[in-house]
Amino acid sequence: MTDKKEYCGLFGVFGHPAAVEKVYHGLFLLQHRGQESAGIASTDGKADSGAMKLHVGMGLVRDVFTPESLAALRNPRAIGHVRYSTTGSSRVENAQPMLAQYSRGQVAVAHNGNLTNAKLLRDEFEAYGSIFRTTNDTEIIMHLLARPSNGGLADPFAAVFDPLEGAYSLLVLTPDEMIAACDPYKLRPLSIGQAGNAWFVSSETCAFDLLGIKYVRDVQPGEIVHITAAGLRSSIYCHPDRIKPSHCIFEHIYFSRPDSRVFGDSVHAVRRKLGRQLAREHPVDADVVFAVPDTGNSASIGYAYESGIPFDIGFIRSHYVGRTFIQPHQSDRTSSVQIKLAIMREVVAGKRVIVVEDSVVRGTTTRGKMRALREAGAKEIHLRVSAPPVRNPCFYGIDFPTTDELIATGRTPREIAEFLEIDSIGYLSVPGILSCVSRPPSHYCAACFTGRYPVPIGQNVGKYAMERHQLSMF
Ligand code: SF4
Repeated sequence: MTDKKEYCGLFGVFGHPAAVEKVYHGLFLLQHRGQESAGIASTDGKADSGAMKLHVGMGLVRDVFTPESLAALRNPRAIGHVRYSTTGSSRVENAQPMLAQYSRGQVAVAHNGNLTNAKLLRDEFEAYGSIFRTTNDTEIIMHLLARPSNGGLADPFAAVFDPLEGAYSLLVLTPDEMIAACDPYKLRPLSIGQAGNAWFVSSETCAFDLLGIKYVRDVQPGEIVHITAAGLRSSIYCHPDRIKPSHCIFEHIYFSRPDSRVFGDSVHAVRRKLGRQLAREHPVDADVVFAVPDTGNSASIGYAYESGIPFDIGFIRSHYVGRTFIQPHQSDRTSSVQIKLAIMREVVAGKRVIVVEDSVVRGTTTRGKMRALREAGAKEIHLRVSAPPVRNPCFYGIDFPTTDELIATGRTPREIAEFLEIDSIGYLSVPGILSCVSRPPSHYCAACFTGRYPVPIGQNVGKYAMERHQLSMF
């Protein structure tokens, strides 16, 4: 799948002498969640010892940081961010974390997701004369925090998060504490880990495993976790009626690394089950099963197990080409796809092949791969997709093409197969996909397949904030 844009990755450390280096390595391991910009903010914990430190830049983690910039950041408390521009344009002003000075001190904020009431909140602030430096949602959080009305509250951050609507996982750093929070739907993953006396927060657990950090637990829907020198303190910041777990099912299909545990399940194990279910729903006689790497790998193994058809490697992916879909310009995407996948001719030539792909969105890049298989001598091509057809936009941080551009819009599976120039296509069903995860179906968002949005959109956006907070900014 190459037509989605993804969102962001967060990694934070509190109370480790090499916190900045740990964050740097954590961001490396979360690089698949965003490749446009990266940044780290850090503090020594002393409010009077000068400014918190910040380094952000455009590009990959390995390009943004140098030994010198890491040394300049060195502190025992740090948060970091890798970004793709789901909202806000692709420029360094929008890179995160964002650092601000306000009446109660300094604060750095890193955010993953999309606020559905961002425009409403921004308009309200601007009507009162506030000036925004960037176009991203994180600055709105800064403005909410700076409201004088938050001054006397026991937990001003809880008051900041409550009016937010949409999908957000957040990391906040002040001289005293690191704060992790999730929206009441927990659309995005966020986990807590520990090593010795140090605490860690990461978008995905793969970063814990590889850095020798023990996974402790996930941040819960609507939960705010304060991490201080005294340990963890947690509360639910929103009304209990608002808590409605709706985890993004695409994390399992595509976004997360297979070695992560997301929403309580191993991503690899879920993907393997998706492949098994796909084989049950769409069997076909063939000679070989292989994946479109890398995100189709686990599901293709499941398909081969279940069908009994031999598994092989049909495509070889170049590891020196980025994940093409997160490059912002169409011309970049097309050119890198052309050099990304090589075909194993001896596996394909003269064979009836089953190709397992994680999803098909626009279809143009998939058609290029299918044509290449045909040119390599494939006798029959049967595409099996470990997700249902994407038919609806995502308002929670995934930038799918417009509905008109989606291959599934107005086409039957047979017509899609014709467009892709293949012999057959089989999509996993919505019940099929939801049968492969361990939580009840009602605990997942599958709106891009079903059109049933768990978080208010359209006319209802901002209704909660308007009613409950009356958007009295000052
Ligand atoms: Fe994930 Fe799709 Fe829901 Fe967006 S609409 S949060 S991509 S499941």
